[in-house]
Amino acid sequence: MTGFDPRTRWLVLLVFGCLAAGCTSCGSGSSPAPLPPPVPPERPAFDEAHAFADLEQQVAFGPRNPGSQGHQDCLAWLVHQLRPLADLVVQQDFQAATPMGGPYGFTNVIALFGQDQPGEVWLLGAHWDTRPVADEDPDPANRGTAILGANDGASGVAVLLEIARALGEVPPPCPVLLAFFDAEDSGISGSGMPYMGFCIGSAYLADDWPTELPRPEKVVVVDLVGQDEEHNLRVGTPNGSNDRFDLPYERYGQTAAPGLANEVWTAAEVLGHDAFKRRAGPYVIDDHKPFLDAGYDAIDIIDFPPPEWHTVDDTPEHCSPDSLLQVGDTLLEVIYAG
Ligand SMILES: [Zn+2]
Repeated sequence: MTGFDPRTRWLVLLVFGCLAAGCTSCGSGSSPAPLPPPVPPERPAFDEAHAFADLEQQVAFGPRNPGSQGHQDCLAWLVHQLRPLADLVVQQDFQAATPMGGPYGFTNVIALFGQDQPGEVWLLGAHWDTRPVADEDPDPANRGTAILGANDGASGVAVLLEIARALGEVPPPCPVLLAFFDAEDSGISGSGMPYMGFCIGSAYLADDWPTELPRPEKVVVVDLVGQDEEHNLRVGTPNGSNDRFDLPYERYGQTAAPGLANEVWTAAEVLGHDAFKRRAGPYVIDDHKPFLDAGYDAIDIIDFPPPEWHTVDDTPEHCSPDSLLQVGDTLLEVIYAG
């Protein structure tokens, strides 16, 4: 005969149940004290000088547009930075044509931190590729030139890499994914492609989630977060517009995920990072949009459009460590609040 007779099994369960129930009332005669609530780890500092050096390093690779040497070099560097810090680094390779050519080989890089932690999974994302053409340059002769993307590309990556260092130093109280999207910036308005041909990498990730990674509950994209307001106020800008470093609510995200937007803007207020403004900004097609469309809560922190946007002047001297600090420090506050 194998297994229990059903009647015997119930008897065994009953006896074990009584013994287990009795345990808490025997011995010292008092119940154990309730455990104190877990204390979130102390938030590490955001080193804006280090972040700015990462912005400059990316620019030193040259333009990182699809198919370029700078694109290859930056990918290798990015992965090399992340591997010693993260619990897991996933490279998601794919091929795609853009409105500007191809097909090209692309790679999304996703790093996971705090993989065994409880709680909601955060995803912080930025694009690491740069635009193949300076099509907004005031000088028509420059419009075929690939941009250096100090603000448009490198600033978001620099914020995320400094956050990676903080997460590597002090494990976060919740799982955190840092996603570096490829193929964001080769779109053309009127191209007829999804998202006008922008956001190809983030759309690929949102639709084809790697099985080895947890899915995020909250998605926060950062883009164009490096503008040097003081420089632009002092020197002036080509068209005189948007010379401030301003972060109003991006409208798609704030409309669809108002609770998440409020959580992030509240953290900025508490820290006194006054670039964050509680007013409605523009609707921007950016890497949060495919996540919104796939059903995620997703927002975008973006200063749009900065004066050097899609011009050959998108260079480090128009960027500021303080702008990176305002955004990176706010995100660390949100993550380490637990
Ligand atoms: Zn761009």
